[in-house]
Amino acid sequence: MTKPPTTDDASARPTCPKCDGPRATTMVLGPTVGVVSPCGCRIYPRPSFE
Ligand SMILES: [Zn+2]
Repeated sequence: MTKPPTTDDASARPTCPKCDGPRATTMVLGPTVGVVSPCGCRIYPRPSFE
């Protein structure tokens, strides 16, 4: 069974991979550049582990 993701669940809360803080939104500036809001860390929007 497939359940839709819930934003109320604490375990499903997005966090910043850089500072581990709460991530409200991610602004995508380019194909490999994104800025996390509200902390402002720069991350990869689509992290790839190759
Ligand atoms: Zn951050």
